[in-house]
Amino acid sequence: MRVPPVFVSRRWPRVCLAAVLLSLSGGLQAEADFQYRMPAIAPETASGREEKPGWNAQHFAVAAANPLATDAGYQMLEAGGSAIDAAVAVQMVLTLVEPQSSGIGGGAFLMHHDGEDVVAYGGRETAPGGVDETLFLDEEGEPLDFMTAVASGLSVGVPGTVRMLERAHREHGRLPWAELFTPAIRLAEEGFAVSPRLHASLDGDEQLRADPLAGVFYYTQAGEALPAGHELKNPALGAILREIAAEGSSGLHTGRIAEDLVFRVQNHPERPGSLSLEDLASYAAKTREPLCTPWRAYRVCGFPPPSSGHLTIMQILGLLDRLPALESPLVEGRPSDDWLHRFLESARLAFADRGKYIADPDFVEAPGGDWETMLDPDYLALRAERIGERSLGSGGAEPGNPGALATAWAVQPHQPESGTSHISIIDEHGNALAMTTTIEQAFGSRIMADGGTGMPGGYMLNNELTDFSFLPVGEDGKPIANRVEAGKRPRSSMSPTLVFDRDSGELVASLGSPGGAAIIHYTAKALVAMLDWGLDAQQALNLPHAVTLGGPVFLEEGGFPAVTHQSLEALGHDVSERELVSGLQALRVTDDGLFGGADPRREGVVMGK
Ligand code: GLU
Repeated sequence: MRVPPVFVSRRWPRVCLAAVLLSLSGGLQAEADFQYRMPAIAPETASGREEKPGWNAQHFAVAAANPLATDAGYQMLEAGGSAIDAAVAVQMVLTLVEPQSSGIGGGAFLMHHDGEDVVAYGGRETAPGGVDETLFLDEEGEPLDFMTAVASGLSVGVPGTVRMLERAHREHGRLPWAELFTPAIRLAEEGFAVSPRLHASLDGDEQLRADPLAGVFYYTQAGEALPAGHELKNPALGAILREIAAEGSSGLHTGRIAEDLVFRVQNHPERPGSLSLEDLASYAAKTREPLCTPWRAYRVCGFPPPSSGHLTIMQILGLLDRLPALESPLVEGRPSDDWLHRFLESARLAFADRGKYIADPDFVEAPGGDWETMLDPDYLALRAERIGERSLGSGGAEPGNPGALATAWAVQPHQPESGTSHISIIDEHGNALAMTTTIEQAFGSRIMADGGTGMPGGYMLNNELTDFSFLPVGEDGKPIANRVEAGKRPRSSMSPTLVFDRDSGELVASLGSPGGAAIIHYTAKALVAMLDWGLDAQQALNLPHAVTLGGPVFLEEGGFPAVTHQSLEALGHDVSERELVSGLQALRVTDDGLFGGADPRREGVVMGK
């Protein structure tokens, strides 16, 4: 085992003592006040697709990707907590039970509505101060193999989720911070059942077994992934969460846990990264002006750059609206071939703009000085003229010119993205949120950190920096907007979305999904299905997916009949089938209260009252 000796001998006297003192003194006041009920939720029997009923509620609801996480949020709401209180509890439990997707070692975007204002809280990971645009290039200046770069210290960005939640909680929390950690701490210390999806993710992972901590914690000596239903305790994470509960985000960003994180990154055996204590200590969550776009009778609010999510979704919806109306966009409960063609062509055009323009706004200028230029009605009308009977084909969509720029950007070639979780919550105090949270790939950088506790378990560090372009310049020699720069936040596809009625201003829906760049297609289609086609939040998420990033078209395996493939091929699309594992969660305000849906492709559930 490649455990550096320092980890064997390093123990954690200060934090352990603090935890003991806290529990003796009732310093975690929370644990005394808030009575967490350990749920008897068995893991779902099947991984893969499971039909969901959709859930009704009157007063509040929470939707998350794992039943234990949803339940933790539910218990917070039931105890009088706000949406953000519930989100903190959900996130901490997800760190434990869905470690492949998100956690305290990653980043997140949160759209929050307090009944009046919408605020975009940014907890995106940040490139360390010690990197430059050559981060993912080898000695010859060639880009590293993608998975080689992922499973390394190079890919780890400064995590932002905890700082972001802390900031939002300070502004909108009702329950004490420490109380929100009770469910995750109890589950970590007393154990939870490994879910089928966690088992499948562990089983299928090529690199995680090589990590000195994760390889021992999640696998048997024979290298078998822990089976579904296995009762797993994670004492290291329990101790870390106690520290963050007591100290706030500085418990993670400074002190022993931070030292351990930096050590793990800087001592990666093959490809160490430069992330430093100073990088961690100086990380600040950002609030940003959300992008709110009129669409039909609605106002759709989403995250601005560095996410490309909202701009690309709203370009797609805007382009679709500029094409002549279709009589039947749905045929036999599925999007029709005509609609799919238009949707895919709109996506080709929107992704061409995305690849050229969108990156961290602290480093790049928006076209014409304002991101709204990309959604300008005249600009979209001009772009929509490019959509015809036949497909533009793979690579046929060029970026447009939404506005003047001082820098001439090259288009970033596509790179894979995956592994994330979405949370939607509406509370009974008039708050609503949509939060998408990530460590990028499944199990992130494949580096587990135990906070220096020396105890079994810990949490996963993100690989978010591989969301930057590996290439700093295009073939034409022009710089790529989303190239690596110190202190910059990588471009994202995450699309936490809140929808409002345009006239009344009332909340209509909260939704979002994981799925890498396809988040954009999943979320755009769910919006159309709910708000245009009149499907309920569950029906909307059940629809089969179709995706293109500008090249080939992928149809969801088993989602469409052969004739759909043929008719799209006949229009010039290069079509194949693949698994398209979204993880949509949606809450819709209805005449009767609330109705929630969770993606049949994952383990999510909705709970409400
Ligand atoms: N890292 C990706 C992003 O921020 C998300 C990955 C995923 O959803 O699977 O856009």
